[in-house]
Amino acid sequence: MIVNSPLHSRINIITGRASSSYIISSPSIIVVDVGFPSDAKAILTCVRSTLGRDIKDIKLIVLTHSHFDHVNGVDYLVDKTGATVAAHTNAQKYLTGKGSIPIASWHDSKEFLLFLLRHSFPRPSMLDVASMPRAGIPGIAKGIRSKVTHWLADRQNLPNHPEWEVIYTPGHTDDSICLYNSQHKTLISGDTIINLYGCLRLNPLLKQDRKALLESLEKLKQLHVDYVYPGWGSPVFGKDVLDSVYI
Ligand SMILES: [Zn+2]
Repeated sequence: MIVNSPLHSRINIITGRASSSYIISSPSIIVVDVGFPSDAKAILTCVRSTLGRDIKDIKLIVLTHSHFDHVNGVDYLVDKTGATVAAHTNAQKYLTGKGSIPIASWHDSKEFLLFLLRHSFPRPSMLDVASMPRAGIPGIAKGIRSKVTHWLADRQNLPNHPEWEVIYTPGHTDDSICLYNSQHKTLISGDTIINLYGCLRLNPLLKQDRKALLESLEKLKQLHVDYVYPGWGSPVFGKDVLDSVYI
């Protein structure tokens, strides 16, 4: 049986209006994905009230990919904290508004809509509505206002945080990354692997490239992972937990 890793106590989960964000505490704080502006506000509340830290301790925001439910709160969070932003190099076209994320196939769009109908997500807040129009919507070229300081590449360590390695995992989108901490066998999996209906799944929703997604899973299986923090759903722990990912 796997128990919580020592790192677990330093990772706070913000269950957002759609996807999840993670706050990693160290001398400085990393935020992985931001959600909507109201989720960014919840991140600040957690840092202040739960962690008892200054919000200016948030120095780095990492985006696992450019979908709207992961990036829309970035400008709000950067305005409040002055944090720098990092994303994969392939996100450049999306986050600068020079290109749009491809629209998913009819089959995937239908599955995603059915998934949304089966779940009750919180309504957007006034803060979210005020932030329209949004970045990261498939088919719409609309970037974020904040400057991305760090364009990340596969197997690169996060700036000032060498304990976290960037793993490029295309498939869900062509700018998807996971973050891997080898010492603690921990993976932050973004939307590449999600917890759907209680089990880890190679994300079947809104995928761009199924073949690339399968190859990304094989790449991740080369790592030693006992702890997964997915972009959707609760974390899942277990010895070599990626071996049981449902495809
Ligand atoms: Zn996504």
